[in-house]
Amino acid sequence: MSGAEAFVTLATTDSYCMGAAVVARSLRRHGTTRHIVAMITPNVSEQSRLALEDVFDEVIAVDVMDSEDYHHLSLLGRPELGITFTKIHCWTLTQYSKCVFLDADTLVLCNVDELFDRDELSAAPDPGWPDCFNSGVFVFRPSLHTHTRLLDHASRHGSFDGGDQGLLNSFFSSWSVEDLSKHLPFVYNLSASSVYSYLPAFQQFGHNAKIIHFLGADKPWNSQGNSSYSHNMEQFVSLWWKEYLIHTVSSAPVVQPKQEQKKPQ
Ligand code: UDP
Ligand code: MN
Repeated sequence: MSGAEAFVTLATTDSYCMGAAVVARSLRRHGTTRHIVAMITPNVSEQSRLALEDVFDEVIAVDVMDSEDYHHLSLLGRPELGITFTKIHCWTLTQYSKCVFLDADTLVLCNVDELFDRDELSAAPDPGWPDCFNSGVFVFRPSLHTHTRLLDHASRHGSFDGGDQGLLNSFFSSWSVEDLSKHLPFVYNLSASSVYSYLPAFQQFGHNAKIIHFLGADKPWNSQGNSSYSHNMEQFVSLWWKEYLIHTVSSAPVVQPKQEQKKPQ
């Protein structure tokens, strides 16, 4: 197995499992040759787990980790994000030599296997503070040593935003200045906020989008009908629903067998 590479996502609730399923389907739709792995926590329901096992090559149970840093999370306005510390467990996937982590609220629009040409830690700038990387899409190298160092860093310094992104940015603190090849183009992590903050750039470059990130409190799975998304993001929300519903028959669990897709290796 060593040498194998994988896309990895995380879901700690049944709602985020809806997102995770779309991540896997959109990767397969665009013909990835890499493995697709989900990390889930024990509270995910059996029905959601089975649905994920249908579309992922591997579904791995991990322990919940929570920063419980309510002060910083309230500054961020996202009290629910302490649980994103669970993401750090992706460094334990040492059966893979290199991985690309994708948040469960991302949607892949084309083949992005070229991301595996990049090294740890590669990520795109965060739209809110571009000297920080956004931790919704990143390239990393699984390593128990790095995992231990990350846990140690978390217990010593916590996270400046209470979530995984603050922790990862203070751990990989030279990202903004060190090596431009570790800066992914923004089109690999295109979030709705760019539409509001720089609409002309979105109009100029938006059609090159490769991965959409539904960053923020509103998620596509909560948005059917009464969406707060702009017209420009609405097209991607529709695409998300199309990807979700195409394999989901009425209220039945997701039943698309993954054998129908060409499995890697
Ligand atoms: N996540 C999860 N359960 C939660 C919150 C977050 O599984 O209750 C995972 C999921 O993979 C999610 C990621 O952590 O995509 C980061 O959280 P989110 O995407 O909500 O943060 P944002 O990108 O909006 O800052
Ligand atoms: Mn996200």
